[in-house]
Amino acid sequence: MARVLFINTGSEGHINPTIAVVEELISRGEEVMYFTIEEFRERIEKTGATVQTINAQKFIKAFVSGGRNYLLERINGLLHTADIVIPSVLEQIQGEQFDYIIHDSMFGCGHILAQILKIPSINSCTSFVESKASFDRGLEDFFKKVPTEIVNPIYDQYQVLTGRVKEKYGVEIHSPYEVFCNPAPFTIVYTTREFQPCGDEFDQTYKFVGPSISSRLSQESPYLHDINGKSPIYISLGTVFNQAINFYKLCIKAFGNTDFSVVMSIGKVVQISDLGEIPKNFFVKNYVPQQEVLKDSKLFITHGGMNSVHEGLYYGVPLIVIPQSADQPVIAGQVANIGAGVQLDMQSLTANQLRKAADRVLSEPSFHLAAAKMKESFQKSGGYQQAVDEIFEFKRQYNI
Ligand code: UDP
Repeated sequence: MARVLFINTGSEGHINPTIAVVEELISRGEEVMYFTIEEFRERIEKTGATVQTINAQKFIKAFVSGGRNYLLERINGLLHTADIVIPSVLEQIQGEQFDYIIHDSMFGCGHILAQILKIPSINSCTSFVESKASFDRGLEDFFKKVPTEIVNPIYDQYQVLTGRVKEKYGVEIHSPYEVFCNPAPFTIVYTTREFQPCGDEFDQTYKFVGPSISSRLSQESPYLHDINGKSPIYISLGTVFNQAINFYKLCIKAFGNTDFSVVMSIGKVVQISDLGEIPKNFFVKNYVPQQEVLKDSKLFITHGGMNSVHEGLYYGVPLIVIPQSADQPVIAGQVANIGAGVQLDMQSLTANQLRKAADRVLSEPSFHLAAAKMKESFQKSGGYQQAVDEIFEFKRQYNI
């Protein structure tokens, strides 16, 4: 039995794949202390982990204070979160000993914490993994293409913030990549090498275990009986970039009062009453048990979050991807590359275009074939069980 410190202060997409991993770790005898935000306490406590929390409001305020327009601004935001996460974690683990740390690849300052605590670390990557070379190329573009009067103050801020981390915690940050991607000697990536862009370029310290999907943790929902057997079109923009009233109205215009059954999850901010009259063939909810809905769906109209795309393809559902932000354009591109769906542009989207795209994806067999191929490859991959096998191999290598 070893003691594991899990650090993951991200949104639902960063949390979900880790739940089955933690449950499996505990079933194999590990003891896990999991740092997250209050919203996910209950979900993670069910795994048997001890849950500690970070103040979500303070965390988000610190993150957005870095700015949202450029990558280096988001990196500064992550550095601001160090002041929220690190003192709080250190205080809450006072007197405790851990054998290793597993941290999210983006949120929670895991790379810094691992160095402060001087324990072996594992990076938990819930999106495509990015190599330092490709990350640096993206950043180089920022330095070359953006006017210096914008770049300089952002870079000055980066230097002040990294200086502060060194002064307060004695940790040297060598590159923005370390802040944004939290590299570790060992990385678990919850996708397959096949689906990962340039998957062959990553060495054996990257463990592509496939989507971490657990049927044991699936949620029941009484209203699902209403759509049972109707093979709906499922629409969702995920849990973060989902405040899109006009988009939901556009979907109603595209599919309202047709023979399709449509399940639409609109997120917890938009109110169902904001959408006007809901046609009889629509089931609109603020949140649905997505995996349960997908098992029966014929088409998934998604924002292209990594979990949503994995979950859709895991059940062989072809996709229409309408990326909103973050890594979603890359994920949408990869879905189109493998032929399991099409990508549409949110800004110029019309109801007619969406309806035509749906008719096309539903009627052309190539989309179904590509989705079925991914289904097979995802369901064959080891998922959370392989993740834990790999973690035990890591323990062996580090004599834990
Ligand atoms: N999700 C859900 N019900 C909903 C909307 C989302 O269960 O009504 C889950 C979904 O199954 C996925 C996660 O929330 O696991 C969303 O993660 P994703 O990476 O797709 O997008 P994000 O929310 O991070 O943008």
